[in-house]
Amino acid sequence: PRDTVDVVVVGSGGAGFSAAVSAHDHGAKVILIEKEPVIGGNAKLAAGGMNAAWTDQQKAKDIKDSVESMYKDTMKGGRDLNEPELVEVLTSHSKGSVDWLTAMGADLNDVGRMGGASANRSHRPTGGAGVGAHVIQVLYDNAVKRDIDMRMNTRGIEIIKDDKGNVKGLLVKGMYKGYYWIKADAVILATGGFAKNNERVSKLDPKLKGFISTNQPGATGDGLDVAANAGAAMKDLEYIQAHPTLSVKGGVMVTEAVRGNGAILINREGKRFVNEITTRDKASAAILNQTGKSAFLVFDDSVRKSLSKIDKYIGLGVVPSADSLVKLGEMTGIDGKNLTEAVARYNSLVKSGKDADFGRPNLPRALNEGNYYAIEVTPGVHHTMGGVKIDSKAEIMNAKKQVIPGLYGAGEVTGGVHGANRLGGNAISDIVTFGRMAGENAAEYSKKN
Ligand code: ADP
Repeated sequence: PRDTVDVVVVGSGGAGFSAAVSAHDHGAKVILIEKEPVIGGNAKLAAGGMNAAWTDQQKAKDIKDSVESMYKDTMKGGRDLNEPELVEVLTSHSKGSVDWLTAMGADLNDVGRMGGASANRSHRPTGGAGVGAHVIQVLYDNAVKRDIDMRMNTRGIEIIKDDKGNVKGLLVKGMYKGYYWIKADAVILATGGFAKNNERVSKLDPKLKGFISTNQPGATGDGLDVAANAGAAMKDLEYIQAHPTLSVKGGVMVTEAVRGNGAILINREGKRFVNEITTRDKASAAILNQTGKSAFLVFDDSVRKSLSKIDKYIGLGVVPSADSLVKLGEMTGIDGKNLTEAVARYNSLVKSGKDADFGRPNLPRALNEGNYYAIEVTPGVHHTMGGVKIDSKAEIMNAKKQVIPGLYGAGEVTGGVHGANRLGGNAISDIVTFGRMAGENAAEYSKKN
C-alpha cells in the first residue's frame, strides 16, 4: 500500500534529503514529507560553505588541515559545551560526506575561510556560489532519480508507537487529504530549527526579543513538539545564534565568506573594531556595541570578484559603492577621513602579514582595487544550536538516556553538535553527515523490525 514504508523522513532540508537518499540506498522504502509548499528548508539558503578536513579538494590547493584541527576549532567555537562524541562524528566523517556529495554530482571545489576556523576548509561550488542551493539541488535530483516518494504541504503531527514503545509510524496532515497515518518502522526527524519563531526564541533568550531572522518561514520548531510528545529529551535549547551580518536594508543575510575573502568591519566613526572572522557570537556582540547597533562591511573589487555571491547582493540594491573611500563615506554616513585611514592601516597590516590591531588570522588581500563597497549590517537570529538529544548513531534519546526505538534525528532539530555556538560552515557538514547516518541506521533498523 502507498502509505506503508520502512522509513518516513520529516523535513526536506539537507538533513532530510541526505537521510532519504541514504535510507533508500540501504534498501529502505522511503517517504519524505515537507510541511511547506517548497523543498529545501533553511539549508537551501546556506551561502558560506561546507566544512570538511583533509579533503581531496583541500589537497589540490595545498591547504594543510586535519580532522583534529577541525575538532578543536568546533569545540572552541562551541565554548566546549558540544557533545564530544558528536563532534567526533562530525569531523571524522566530514571528508566522507564531501566525497558522497561529489560522487552524486556536487561541485565543492572552491575552498575558503569561515569564522573560527584555523584553516581554509569551507567547501563550495567553483566561483563561490551558494553552497546550500547547490547541495539541495544535487540531493533533490538524486531523490528524483531514485523515485523517492516526496510529499509537500504535508506536516508531521505525531509519532505513533505500539504498546512496547516502538515507533510504528507517523500521523501526518496533508493539505488535500487531511489527517492520515503513514505506517513505518522508523521515523527520522529532520525538521530544522526555530529561528523564525521569535516567540519561542525570546522565551528562551529574552535578549533576542523582536530580532529579525535570516530563516525561512517553516523554521518554527514544531518538530520539537512532535519529538517531545514522543518522549524525546531536549538539549541546549537556550543557545541561539545571531548571525552578525544581515543587511539593514532588505534584511538579506550576507554570508560570512565575504569577510573570509577579505572584507573588513567598520563603524560609523570609520574605524575597525573587531577581528572580522572571529566566531559569530563575538562578532554579533561587537556590532551591537557600535553607535546605531550596526556596522559596515567594507571591501573593494578584488573581494567582489573573488565571490560571485556578492554580485547577487549588489543586484538586490543593498550595496552602495563609490570610486573613493571619501565618497563612500558621504553616501553611507561613515566618517570618510577615518575610513580612508583605517583602510590604509589595514592594507599595511596585510602587507606585514599580521593583524597587530585585532589579531585577525587571515589577511587574504589588500583593499585597493577598483570601486569600494559598503553594506550596512546588523545581527539577526540565525541558528538554534539546541534540540532533541541524540547519540552518535543519530538515535533520539529520552530523559533516561534510553534510545526511543525507531526514532532518529538529524540536523538543526538536534542539540549537542555545536555546543553554545555553531561555526559558519558546520551546518551543511552536520546535516549531510548526520542525515546520511540517520538514513543508514533507520534502514538497517527497519530490516530487523
Ligand atoms: P536542516 O538544515 O536541519 O536540514 P532545514 O531547516 O533545512 O533543516 O529543513 C527542515 C525542513 O523541515 C524545513 O523545510 C521545514 O519546513 C520542514 N518542517 C519543519 N517542521 C515540519 C513538520 N512538522 N512536518 C513536515 N515538515 C516540517
